[in-house]
Formats: sequence, structure tokens, C-alpha cells
Amino acid sequence: MSTDVSAYLKDWWPLQWVTEAPLGSATAAVKPSNIDELTRLVAFASARGVPLYVRGGGSAVTGASIPSAGVVIDTASLNQILDLDEANRTVTAQAGVRLKDLESKLNEKGLTFSQFPQSYELATVGGYISTFGTGQYSTLYGGVEDSVMRLEVVLPTSEVIWTRNRGAPRSSVGPDLSRLFIGAEGSLGVVSAAELKVRKLPRHVWKAAFSFRNFEDAVNAAKGLLEFDVRPAVCRAYNELESQFQFDGKGCTLLLVYHFKSEEVLSTVRQQVATFLEESSVPADPNLVDLWLRKRFDFQGQMDSVRKLGYSIETVEVAAKWSRLLELYRDAMDVLGRTEGVGGVGAHISHLYDQGACLYFTVLFLPKEATYRSLWEGMARVTRSHDATISHHHGVGILKKVYAKDEIPLQLMKRIKKAVDPNETMSPDRLFQ
Ligand SMILES: Cc1cc2nc3c(=O)[nH]c(=O)nc-3n(C[C@H](O)[C@H](O)[C@H](O)COP(=O)(O)OP(=O)(O)OC[C@H]3O[C@@H](n4cnc5c(N)ncnc54)[C@H](O)[C@@H]3O)c2cc1C
Repeated sequence: MSTDVSAYLKDWWPLQWVTEAPLGSATAAVKPSNIDELTRLVAFASARGVPLYVRGGGSAVTGASIPSAGVVIDTASLNQILDLDEANRTVTAQAGVRLKDLESKLNEKGLTFSQFPQSYELATVGGYISTFGTGQYSTLYGGVEDSVMRLEVVLPTSEVIWTRNRGAPRSSVGPDLSRLFIGAEGSLGVVSAAELKVRKLPRHVWKAAFSFRNFEDAVNAAKGLLEFDVRPAVCRAYNELESQFQFDGKGCTLLLVYHFKSEEVLSTVRQQVATFLEESSVPADPNLVDLWLRKRFDFQGQMDSVRKLGYSIETVEVAAKWSRLLELYRDAMDVLGRTEGVGGVGAHISHLYDQGACLYFTVLFLPKEATYRSLWEGMARVTRSHDATISHHHGVGILKKVYAKDEIPLQLMKRIKKAVDPNETMSPDRLFQ
């Protein structure tokens, strides 16, 4: 089924709010309603060398879902939950199922996917997998890579494969081919369905907030919690501007903790954490966690309030090892602060690991293309100088393609691309170029 193409020529890439020029181009968009139609479409395009771009929820913030030419495959009609295996705690869903719809279906059975990107009302299963996404509970549950059992993929050669067998919780038969497609951004084939891990909905939660003198102390406290073997589902430390903007926390920085475990474990953890943070912080109102929970998917409200001030908003989510994280923070604040047209920078850490964390900058900038380009150039320089990654979870898209080249073995990726997609029809000008 063919459909109007104009709706597919943009995604949530902030550049499109500051430039008049259209960022995308395509001749047609097609919405296959089953795997057979999808496979025939991929075979048709591959045989004729027609570029194909896959579109899920279109919530990418990097231009990843904007086509450059050819045909867009819209996965919206591949929206069936194929199997819910409660006994083995897996769900198999087609690529176009939205995370929000998947979660509501699971919740009806007392289960959860536990993956909550801020965009979960928009993002689809296939898009979330293809951008290597992660959610707000990642410190406890990990990112999408930790939730995938196996993937069904329509390859550019029009073969349909599952990345591994269905009957085991783990297998050492060969490399994990799912990983080839997680983060491939539509360059190696169309993820048509996924078998995913699910969990029981948590019954006991603990919410706490702490106030610190400065961001450095809050970051060190968050790191300390992990060393102390406390791994909360959510652990977020905010700098001064973001504490003020999000929580009206004047003159302080905040650490929010939200944790799920049994009642007994939580009561011990609560005491341990209070003792551990006694010297460096003062307890803040735990209702701040409820405020965060209420607002956590409301990006539109945040964007509207920034636009009223005449600014646009960009988010830069880098990640570094602990030993470089605070230096990276200081250098980034310095570079962004000196970028002409940048009006304010909020920052927080979330997504904590034993080895490091994601540093997430929210940058208010005057909507001019030159300002936008300079802020990214500056951030790329700082990130590179600290051996950090330019993308913790938003992926690469058009925006970060030039910066991502330094981080990956590009020649090997090109050879893999050529082997999997011999006619180079899938997202031909993107990640693997
Ligand atoms: C306000 C906001 C907040 C966000 N917060 C987060 C966050 O917390 N965590 C996070 O990880 N991301 C976040 N994002 C980024 C974005 O939402 C995610 O990358 C999302 O997972 C993309 O899913 P999608 O279905 O919208 O994919 P799309 O935008 O449609 O596509 C993204 C990429 O995946 C490819 N693709 C899509 N479907 C398939 C498929 N079936 N097979 C092969 N390739 C496919 C596309 O070709 C494209 O390259 C946020 C975005 C916004 C706008």
C-alpha cells in the first residue's frame, strides 16, 4: 500500500526547527501490513537498486528517520503482539508496536518491559532496537541490548532470518547476531519482529531525594552508591540550572533515587543509603521523585516553555568512564558557555554503570544554524578529548555521522554492509558509509 510521502520527511532532529530547507527527500512511502508484503518490497527495491529507509515512530533526534531518496518503509501496520509467553517471561512483538502499547498489554498481565525512554509514547519496538536505545530504569535493568532475546530480520537479499533459536535463555552457538542489528539504524535490513524479555511489575518501590552543595558532590555520591552495591532503577544527579528548571531547587543540586526490590531489601537499602550520604548531602523532599515521575514523558511542555523565551532546545547525551566524567562535564560547560547564541546549559547524569555514566546536557540556543553547528562541533571536540562517546543512546543518524567515524572500525563495517546488503539499498548514505 502506497501512502503520502510528505509526512516522512522530518523527525525530531532539532535542526529542522532552525533551518528553512527541507532535510529529507523520497519518492514514495509504503506501509506493508504483513511480513510477506515487506519481504516483496525489500526484494523489489534491492533488485532495482532503489534506496530504502525504514521508519518506525519517527522520534529519532538525529535525522535517522529522515530519508534521502527512494522509498520509505513505514512499519506502523506491523503492529501485532505475536506471542506472550508468561511462563518463560518473553513477549514477541512486531516492529511497529509502540513501546507504550506494548507496556499497557504487559501491565494487564502484571508484567513490564521495563524500558522507558522519554519518547516511549512515540517510539516503536523496531526503532528502539535499531537506535540502541535505553530507558529511564537502565541502571538496574540495562538498555535494549539487555532485553532482546532474538530478532526477526528481513535482509536486503529478502531472506527472513531469526538471529538465534527460540528454545533457550542463552546460547553459545556462534556470535550473537542480534547485536549486528541493534543500533544498525536500518542499514542492514528491516527488523520485523523481536522476542523480548519481560519482568514482573515491581510491588515495592522506594523514593528518595538528596540535596548537595554542588554537582561534583552529587556525581561522586551516585558513583559511591554503585560501589556500595546499591543499584537503583533510577539514580539521577542534576546540576544547578537543571535542578532549578525541573524542580525549583534553588542554589543546590539534586540526586533522585527510585528503587524496586522486596520490602525487606528496600528497608535495609534505605538505611544504608541514608548513612552513606549523611555527610555529603541533606535529605530533600521525596515528592520530587513523584514530580519527576509525573513530568518524565512531557517533553512537549518543556519545549514550549523554552520556545516562549525565544530559544530552541538540543540534548547532547555523551558517556564516559568515571575517571573522565567530571573533567568532561567542566570542559563541556566551558565550551558550551562560550558558544555564541547558547543561552543556558542544564546537565544531569543518569544511566549509571560500574565503569562510568551518561552525561546528558540540555542546551538552550538561539535558533540559528551557525549556533547549532558550533555547539555540536564544540561538544564533539570535548567528547573526543576525553575518549568518551558522542552518543550514549540517541544513535547516529545524519547529525553524528561525521563524529561517529572516529569511534568505530569503519572499514570492517563497510565490508559487513557490502556482504549483507550487496546492492547497498538500505539506508545507503548513513552509518556504514
Ligand atoms: C523527546 C524525546 C526523548 C527521547 N528520549 C530517549 C530516551 O530516553 N532514550 C532513547 O534511547 N532514545 C530517546 N529518544 C530518541 C528516539 O525516541 C529513540 O531513538 C527511539 O527509540 C526511536 O524509535 P522510533 O520508532 O521512533 O524510530 P525512528 O525514529 O522511526 O527510526 C530511528 C532509526 O531506526 C531505524 N528503524 C526504525 N524502525 C526500524 C526497523 N523496524 N528495522 C530497521 N531499522 C529501523 C530508522 O531507519 C532510523 O534509522 C528520544 C526522542 C525524543 C523526541
